[in-house]
Amino acid sequence: MQVKAPRGTYDILPQDSVKWQYIEKIMRDSAESFGFREIRTPLFEHSELFQRGVGQGTDIVSKEMYSFNDRSRRSLTLRPEGTAPCARALIEHGIYSGVMPVKWYYLGPMFRYDRPQTGRYRQFHQFGVEAFGSNSPYLDAEIIILLVEILRRLGLDDYELHLNSLGCSVCRDDYRQKLLQHISPFKEQLCQDCQQRYMQNPLRVLDCKMETCHQAIRGYPIFYDHLCPYCQEHYSRVQAALQANGVSYIHDNNLVRGLDYYSNTAFEIHLPGIGAQSAVGGGGRYDGLVKELGGPDIPGIGFALGMERLLLALDMLGKREFSKPSLDVFVVVMNDAYEMQGLQLVSELRRRGIRADKDYGGRSGKAQMKYAGKTAARFVVMVGEEEVEKHFWTLRDMQSKEQRQLGQEELIDSIRSVIETK
Ligand code: AMP
Repeated sequence: MQVKAPRGTYDILPQDSVKWQYIEKIMRDSAESFGFREIRTPLFEHSELFQRGVGQGTDIVSKEMYSFNDRSRRSLTLRPEGTAPCARALIEHGIYSGVMPVKWYYLGPMFRYDRPQTGRYRQFHQFGVEAFGSNSPYLDAEIIILLVEILRRLGLDDYELHLNSLGCSVCRDDYRQKLLQHISPFKEQLCQDCQQRYMQNPLRVLDCKMETCHQAIRGYPIFYDHLCPYCQEHYSRVQAALQANGVSYIHDNNLVRGLDYYSNTAFEIHLPGIGAQSAVGGGGRYDGLVKELGGPDIPGIGFALGMERLLLALDMLGKREFSKPSLDVFVVVMNDAYEMQGLQLVSELRRRGIRADKDYGGRSGKAQMKYAGKTAARFVVMVGEEEVEKHFWTLRDMQSKEQRQLGQEELIDSIRSVIETK
């Protein structure tokens, strides 16, 4: 047996989980302050959901999905992203017949069979939001403002926001034809991936990372110049709303995003200081998705942020120190005979909201004091013969080294008065 987590996965050990809790709280609080509520969908779905909802021509569906047959020979897939599951839930529960827009956020693991490297894993975590049921450009702006607000609260203000419009189904089809015509004569010069995907979705060639592909198609028609009047107006309003809210952005003609279902506003956010995998999040409008999945014609917009990349950014660029979470109290039992009293005291402290622990390793009183120091507990309470017989506890403040003998209620009050002001 291999005693090693599978390639592309990793453990989040307690010294790191403090950081996760910190960013998760900022994300939840930010989303809730914008009126979003949490949805939790299953970790696996029917494979067809992603085939239809993400698109057969995408890298995710064509080469990155963890798909398997279960014992009833149904094809299931570990979710590679969160939008299609949200759209599925919206349809399944008939939520679209209630008040619109529906504003959801989610947080959890996603799975993609990709080549692991720094900032890229096979099991990774995303925080995402989705808003269904409104095609207002001001909602697009609100979604982007939320994304920027999360980065601001994390102290990661040095971002680059790339913005583009991918048009609607009408102007996109026209543009697609023009792009196909332009690319066709040069298709032999494209990389293997682009040669395969350009027939299905020629727009994908635009965001290929290979310089040779860009050279091959130079002079290509720009989507922005071919947007229909509705899409032009939508995009102008999004830009005006971002400007009015002080959000700076870069209009990026090459930004197309990897998923087939995007339409109109598309965006990606980068933190240039964190290395090759600088994209920390992205999203856009997906007005055709709910219909594509068998629901009514309901528009939607959302984004997903990669948690690992944000943590990397916090380590590299963040201004915040993460302190080790410590216990409030370590109870030192001076003699085996008083184990029961020690356990009762620990239980009572915990019931009263104090984080407390004791030794279970049979250590001597002296060794327990040393161990208490390592746990970084603020206080030690000693339980020995004199304490038990005379009904008091000895409280030692590990910072000031001051020691006092106190009755149980006084003890609890003293501890609380310190930990509650921390
Ligand atoms: P996407 O919707 O594919 O653009 O993903 C949104 C964000 O999730 C990206 O900007 C990354 O920050 C993050 N992400 C996507 N794939 C991975 C991966 N394999 N490992 C870690 N983070 C990822």
